[in-house]
Amino acid sequence: MTVTECEAKSILTPTGGFLTGFSHTLNPYVGCSLGRSLCGMACYAEEIRFSSREIHHWGQSLKVKLNAKSLYRRDYARVRRKGTPLSIFMSSVTDPYVPQERRYRITREILTEMLELPPDILVLQTHTPNMLWDVGTLYRLHKRCYLTVQITIETDQEMLMGFPRHAYSVASRLAALRELKKVGLKTVGVVSPLLPLADPKLFATRLGEVAAAVILDHYLIGDGSPNGTRTRRKVVHDLTVPELISATACNAWNTMERFYQVVETFQRILGKKRVGVGAEGFLEIVGNYNKR
Ligand code: SF4
Repeated sequence: MTVTECEAKSILTPTGGFLTGFSHTLNPYVGCSLGRSLCGMACYAEEIRFSSREIHHWGQSLKVKLNAKSLYRRDYARVRRKGTPLSIFMSSVTDPYVPQERRYRITREILTEMLELPPDILVLQTHTPNMLWDVGTLYRLHKRCYLTVQITIETDQEMLMGFPRHAYSVASRLAALRELKKVGLKTVGVVSPLLPLADPKLFATRLGEVAAAVILDHYLIGDGSPNGTRTRRKVVHDLTVPELISATACNAWNTMERFYQVVETFQRILGKKRVGVGAEGFLEIVGNYNKR
């Protein structure tokens, strides 16, 4: 794993694609050190032009944006001068809580800066339980802006035969959501992309206890390419991702039919309003934020 330090040119990036409900994305790092784990297997960030130009081996190198804090101050002033709302998705092509955050504290510095210069809306999404490092700052920030904290958990199974290991256990991520909810933060569980579940009802119940809402997505509709082309061509241990899913569970998990069965289960247990489906569902939740 190669970690390098860099001076970035900007930190707030105007959005496009499925993130159009936000005005900007914010990525404290370039690349992602979790890229060799299970989530990296179907990670669309690897193929984003910017990432692939800067990071040649996904999951094996990380660039730390040392000047992120001062860039946030500068970019914030620019956006505010235009008088437009500032709604940030953090992060779209890295994880704000990669293990290296423990040393560099880039995300913490940005969040601390936001206490003074708050966006209107902030969605902070991670694949880790490490958001707990900043729970005090997040609590204060939630008094200053409309903050939602999201943790991605693609399956209820701690091990999926044939797949890479999770970077962080399912249990630790559920526990983190629980802690974040306990202090009064709005928590969302993101099941994306949905991978084979052992017990959809139990998973819905467990997520419902720790998250205000759940977003469900499937690679066939949610990987940013027509009919899941991006995910279909990814190869792990000589098998494509759909072949691996098929070998691990059954081919039904590669179909929208099974996906909508899971959606129905979640909606029955949590209620429709607490379950967002695909990019549209995700934007509905953003829409709800905007109605605040
Ligand atoms: S944590 Fe997010 S950005 Fe990093 S490899 Fe996993 S899915 Fe991709």
